[in-house]
Amino acid sequence: MLAAPGVPSVGSVRKTEGRAERIRELLDEVARLHEQCGRLLGGNVRPGVGKIAKKPPAAAPFNIEAAEARSKIQSFLIQWARVVVVQRRVSAPRCEVSGLAAFLGTHAAWMAEHPSAGDVPDRLASLAAHARYAAFPEERPQSIGRCVEPDCGGRLLRRTEPAQIECSRDPGHVWRSHQWLDLRRRIGQRP
Ligand SMILES: [Zn+2]
Repeated sequence: MLAAPGVPSVGSVRKTEGRAERIRELLDEVARLHEQCGRLLGGNVRPGVGKIAKKPPAAAPFNIEAAEARSKIQSFLIQWARVVVVQRRVSAPRCEVSGLAAFLGTHAAWMAEHPSAGDVPDRLASLAAHARYAAFPEERPQSIGRCVEPDCGGRLLRRTEPAQIECSRDPGHVWRSHQWLDLRRRIGQRP
């Protein structure tokens, strides 16, 4: 069946909807992680605690990674909010990240079709990954030595989310948690 000129096909509409949904999810995620990183910086630790502490809490060590992750998230969202405001002639949201993310979420379908927004999901995913590692350093991938596959030369990295061990060089070299015993045996046999 031929689509009428200018009318998007059902397939392309579905694809756009899928992209828009992905953008919305990632916006929620970066907004949540932005807040979590903010707690690390001591900005609003334990809000609502009314008792006066006997001694002032020790100053949180300044977490540069968390601060950087937050500022990168905010600049990226501001950059896209500007594009939306100028091109769609709508009023600008406030510059807080939660407000920016909510604003962009309402324009996600438009962004999903924007010719310059092809890398937006990847950029948001990368911002989320950096913020997640800053907020939860224990989730950072841990190196556990050389890859066991012959002639690979990559490094094995253990991730908690998803729980798997993967190779830094070949994405096909990946072991899910139920394969770890087998992998451990192979690591033991390594020359
Ligand atoms: Zn490998």
